[in-house]
Amino acid sequence: MDLRLRGRKAIVCAASQGLGKASAMTLAREGVELVIVARRRDVLDSAADEIESATANRPHTVAADVTSQEGREAILAACADPDILINNAGGPPPGDFRNFGRDDWIKALDGNMLAPIALIKATIDGMIARKFGRIVNITSHAVKAPVAMLALSNGARTGLTGFVAGLARSVSEHNVTVNNLLPGTFDTDRLKSNLAALARNSSRSVAEVTEEVRASNPSRRFGHPDEFGATCAFLCSTHAGYITGQNILIDGGAYPGTF
Ligand code: NAP
Repeated sequence: MDLRLRGRKAIVCAASQGLGKASAMTLAREGVELVIVARRRDVLDSAADEIESATANRPHTVAADVTSQEGREAILAACADPDILINNAGGPPPGDFRNFGRDDWIKALDGNMLAPIALIKATIDGMIARKFGRIVNITSHAVKAPVAMLALSNGARTGLTGFVAGLARSVSEHNVTVNNLLPGTFDTDRLKSNLAALARNSSRSVAEVTEEVRASNPSRRFGHPDEFGATCAFLCSTHAGYITGQNILIDGGAYPGTF
């Protein structure tokens, strides 16, 4: 399917690896002009090389921290008027909430709630004026089915989710959509570090915990980042203009509810 995105401009945050990179890759294939963002310049440049060699479409790169004001200014200097905004950042550390202090909470809120809101604020009025906008926030399955060990993530991302629920309905008439994508267990570095933490907490080997988590998923596997990227790109497409304010879980069937 042609997503009818050729020539559109996109900012993809936290896109040097994992789910952000996979989303950028699919958008690049569709002919979108991309700005990809991450903090480590070397990893970001490698991602740009990989995307260019796979798609013949080289993304612009901005080495920046999305949680800082300067970082966001650098992103917007590279692309002030995106048609597509993919909000993403690293997930907060797992752990017992008793061990987290105010600074930990502020960091989690900065990364997983306030940075996305700031980028939405800076870009949405241009989308409204141009009558096309697609905003996708990468959140987590933990928004729908909280995991106790991911206390910071559960809290911060649910705040963003509440904000988006109100916002999405107020901009829909302008062909601007705002949705959240909720990854389950995707085979990325973030998953590996969560599995390592789970192994430490339960005094088991990483291999044992990895196998247990993999086998407990109804699909008996982890998700491939490219599956995530394709869903993200579809939500950005012209065809997805009637999908807004949704929380779309991609988890191989792990969530057991009817809805
Ligand atoms: P990942 O493989 O660890 O990749 C994280 C990416 O984010 C890297 O490119 C990293 O590059 C960049 N990044 C992190 N913090 C940043 C910041 N402050 N500013 C700019 N870039 C930043 O993670 P992932 O698995 O793709 O996960 C993406 C998001 O989905 C995370 O929030 C994660 O918690 C969430 N999630 C993932 C899963 C899963 O199974 N993979 C499940 C649920 C939720 P630099 O370090 O160079 O900045």
